[in-house]
Amino acid sequence: QRIISAKMSMEDEQVEVSLRPRYLKEYIGQSVAKENLQVYIEAAKMRKEALDHVLLYGPPGLGKTTLSHIIANELGVNVRTTSGPAIERAGDLAAILTNLQPYDLLFIDEIHRLNRSVEEVLYPAMEDYALDIVIGKGPSARSVRLDLQPFTLVGATTRAGSLSAPLRDRFGVVSRLEYYQEEELTQILMRTADLLQVGIQEDGARELATRSRGTPRVANRLLKRVRDFVQVEGDGWITAESARHALDRIQVDRLGLDQVDHRLLMTIIDSFSGGPVGLETIAATIGEEGHTVEDVYEPYLMQIGFLKRTPRGRMVTAKCYQHFGLTYPS
Ligand code: ADP
Repeated sequence: QRIISAKMSMEDEQVEVSLRPRYLKEYIGQSVAKENLQVYIEAAKMRKEALDHVLLYGPPGLGKTTLSHIIANELGVNVRTTSGPAIERAGDLAAILTNLQPYDLLFIDEIHRLNRSVEEVLYPAMEDYALDIVIGKGPSARSVRLDLQPFTLVGATTRAGSLSAPLRDRFGVVSRLEYYQEEELTQILMRTADLLQVGIQEDGARELATRSRGTPRVANRLLKRVRDFVQVEGDGWITAESARHALDRIQVDRLGLDQVDHRLLMTIIDSFSGGPVGLETIAATIGEEGHTVEDVYEPYLMQIGFLKRTPRGRMVTAKCYQHFGLTYPS
């Protein structure tokens, strides 16, 4: 597990629950998504209706699961959590839906990975709070409609583009989560340090923020590792200097790139003269699946302008050459 990976690890799972902000006012950043949600939640409460279905999309670790729980807390309803790959058969989803209490929130992570037959159960459920069940086979088969309690579906996905159009169209609210600004990550780190009772100075938090790839999950994970260093080798306080020292030791550079990023980028530079090079070739150089590279590693490298996609493959930019102190080939 890479320390800068935005994917959730076992360790994250245990601590993340305790670090999750519970209400919108504690949720730092994402102001556009947050302010709009606040209005929709308020309106649904005023009308005593279920909140319209919400689709949250964006790279991993930006707070989609957290936000779904916050929505439930703000609405004062229960949340039921599942994920696309966990629902194998249409019957599994039907069972979940029929067990929901009025106005409950159903959170489906990785919703783009639902299979088609399961997805089809969702359409009438989302649109009319109903389940269409087919009884019998052949010419005598008939469809029976079962009513469901009103509920809110919150779907999360790293790739909105992979969602089928009929499913996407059934979400009333679609919110894209953005990478966090340094200032916002600094605030998140100060908050986490407080919860974990770690001494941190603001410049220490800022140093960590600059290397957190715009991602709260990465920020919190770096904080925990740096805490180990300052407790064992320092005086227990995270300052700019002690943070820098620890981050150098765990080999996360000043932009949050680790050895795997370096290898990925340097392979394109050294072996392919900066590109273009195909996704699968890149994936093979770092021993990852193509879709993991595409969903998890590339977005940040593109965000900081180090890598770009062209119709012929990925290319490393002049900015990236500069970062490594290399001359960009003309
Ligand atoms: P996702 O579902 O998008 O992968 P999560 O909701 O699991 O991301 O968030 C990962 C971690 O980051 C959680 O521990 C959460 O506490 C923290 N986090 C995410 N967004 C925020 C935020 N806006 N403010 C504070 N902490 C956050």
